[in-house]
Amino acid sequence: MSNIRFKAIEVSLARKRKTLDLPKEKVSTYFGELTFNRNAMREFLTREAYQKLIDVIEKGETIERKIADQIAAGMKSWAISKGANHYTHWFHPLTGATAEKHDAFIIPIEGGNAIENFQGNELIQQEPDASSFPSGGIRNTFEARGYTAWDPTSYAFIMENTLCIPTIFVSYTGEALDYKTPLLKSLAALDKAATNVYKYFDKNVKKVYATMGWEQEYFLIDSALYKVRPDLILTGRTVFGHASAKDQQLSDHYFGTIHERVLDFMQDLEYEAHRLGIPIKTRHNEVAPNQFECAPVYEETNISVDHNQLLMHLMEKVGRRHDFQVLLHEKPFKGINGSGKHNNWSIATDTGVNILSPGKTTDSNFRFLTFMVIVLKAVDRYANLLRAHIASAENDHRLGAHEAPPAIISAFIGSQLSQTFDEIEKKDKKGKVNTNDFNLNILIPKIPEIFLDNTDRNRTSPFAFTGNKFEFRAVGSSANCANPMVALNAIVTEQLNQFKKDVDKLITKNTKKDEAIFQVIKRYITESKKIRFEGNNYSDEWEAEAKKRGLANIKSTPPALKELISKESIKLFENLKILTERELRARYEIQLENYVKKIQIESRVMGDLAKNHIIPIAIRYQNTLIENVKGLKDVLDSKTFVKLSRNQMQTIKEISEHVEEIKDKVAEMLEERIKANRIENLEEQAMAYNMKVMPFLAQIRDHVDDLELMVDDELWPLPKYREMLFIK
Ligand code: ADP
Ligand code: MG
Repeated sequence: MSNIRFKAIEVSLARKRKTLDLPKEKVSTYFGELTFNRNAMREFLTREAYQKLIDVIEKGETIERKIADQIAAGMKSWAISKGANHYTHWFHPLTGATAEKHDAFIIPIEGGNAIENFQGNELIQQEPDASSFPSGGIRNTFEARGYTAWDPTSYAFIMENTLCIPTIFVSYTGEALDYKTPLLKSLAALDKAATNVYKYFDKNVKKVYATMGWEQEYFLIDSALYKVRPDLILTGRTVFGHASAKDQQLSDHYFGTIHERVLDFMQDLEYEAHRLGIPIKTRHNEVAPNQFECAPVYEETNISVDHNQLLMHLMEKVGRRHDFQVLLHEKPFKGINGSGKHNNWSIATDTGVNILSPGKTTDSNFRFLTFMVIVLKAVDRYANLLRAHIASAENDHRLGAHEAPPAIISAFIGSQLSQTFDEIEKKDKKGKVNTNDFNLNILIPKIPEIFLDNTDRNRTSPFAFTGNKFEFRAVGSSANCANPMVALNAIVTEQLNQFKKDVDKLITKNTKKDEAIFQVIKRYITESKKIRFEGNNYSDEWEAEAKKRGLANIKSTPPALKELISKESIKLFENLKILTERELRARYEIQLENYVKKIQIESRVMGDLAKNHIIPIAIRYQNTLIENVKGLKDVLDSKTFVKLSRNQMQTIKEISEHVEEIKDKVAEMLEERIKANRIENLEEQAMAYNMKVMPFLAQIRDHVDDLELMVDDELWPLPKYREMLFIK
């Protein structure tokens, strides 16, 4: 009988390089050609409709029916000119994927003919039959329906001959059922709060927006190998697999020459991304074998989030074309690096200033430091809320493991900024500050030039300042970027509002504005000190030190999620009108449910594979050993037999021991699952999966991985790490 693994390897080895049929023109000639961008709007809309749409995008104005019809008509003509025949509202339900339901433009008319039709109301609002999207009980209360509503700030685009219209997704009772709704609200709240504070420094600013640039890490494996790994197919990660003799220990993959098959994939992906207006700019090998990264130029956060969702979809699609499976899971392979998504985040003004970019003058530095301190203070106050917004069953494998930021949230700002902060802190202690001789030039340390072009880096920090932006590195590679950004925007907004109150209070007591600001940031520096950490976040010393500082180290998802519904969280999100308590509770419930289901699936897959794939093969191999030993006994004298069969006998015994252990543990795991499934309280159920079911996954794996090294390679059914991780 032939081994399915060998067949898959054969297929993967026979791969020929695909001929790429990419256009020879400059990228700028086709960049954004599949988006209803400003050029397309200008071409396909009346002047009136164009101007109105721009006002809607830029000023958040509402749209009247007549104009909506005009815009829909223009959009339809544009889409048809690009070959589209369907349209869909495209949204980010809480499943983590994106959702779409396609409708044809076509409507029948008299005489057996049809016309293409697309009206304003179809553009603006749709009612997908959405009863199977997760709603955390919200929709069930009334009726199983929600609706989607157009987000005009994100350009419509064409994918697979379908016009996709970015939308939010809300229930009939108005609750958000998606990621985009709270994101848009958080961005609006941040704009207001940051503009108010920025006005202390520059009265001309009218708008502040958050910018984001993600770095997307991922693995590629040959699709033939993927297809014979049921665990990868069903869970996105390998539940078994012994480490390869060589993986990343030589660090020879990082920034190495990109394999030509991979490069073809990347170029194809970039072409598709560019046509959709996704400004992909960077590509390189990552540390682990077969691990890669791509990153765009940063954009306004809402757009950047949409682009990341779209890119993840494109990756899988283009991957298939190149016989690759893209693995977006946070930890597809044990023992080597996992994948993250680094969300680079900053805030910028409509006057073109990146607020988190250090300035060269005292005034601009004062402004920069003020905002820096506010962000740090926010992270210090709400570290657990940030932790909650990156929590997932998948990310649990990564946080705190192999070259991934730990589950402890801390912030890195670099030695030079730390010194600056320390200096500011000391200045007050010496009593130098009083209203008469308040002098910013003396009080605000100059930030050394060298810092401006060459920030020091700390690759181990979950939240690192990297020169002109913060890099939130603890986000999982498969996550929707919106979730952590909602949290970050919200906590910074709250701190900006608090800062304004603190400063204004001093001003009403006759403190001059600059001095009031100085006093408040000085206080914040002291208060938020414990969140700053410049050392190696991967070290055990940091775990101990963090504990001393009172920082939380929440290692798994169920307890991490709990922060979503803490008093502080509810107060924060309700005050800022980003999420209501009901919505937060629904989200908490959805994510707990999701966690339970994920662990349940992993546990089932593992049980099935162990029983149906691994044990029978181990026994088959053991039988050949037994046959061999029996034969030896026949041909050898008994003294020689004892001497020469010792190791084989030992192996036979060990195999039996492993098989027994695996069977027992799979049965015990099943028991625990049955018990957990009976628990009605979701929180307790999630904890049961976490504490009672999960531990078996690691235990069973150990036995199977040992067997992988013992059993004849010819028999082993699952592609091995060394086969999957090195593209031929
Ligand atoms: P790194 O600093 O990680 O070596 P880059 O400087 O190229 O790499 O930036 C990584 C990501 O950060 C890119 O997606 C980039 O667009 C984004 N980025 C750069 N500046 C900003 C900013 N001001 N706001 C948000 N993201 C930014
Ligand atoms: Mg980076």
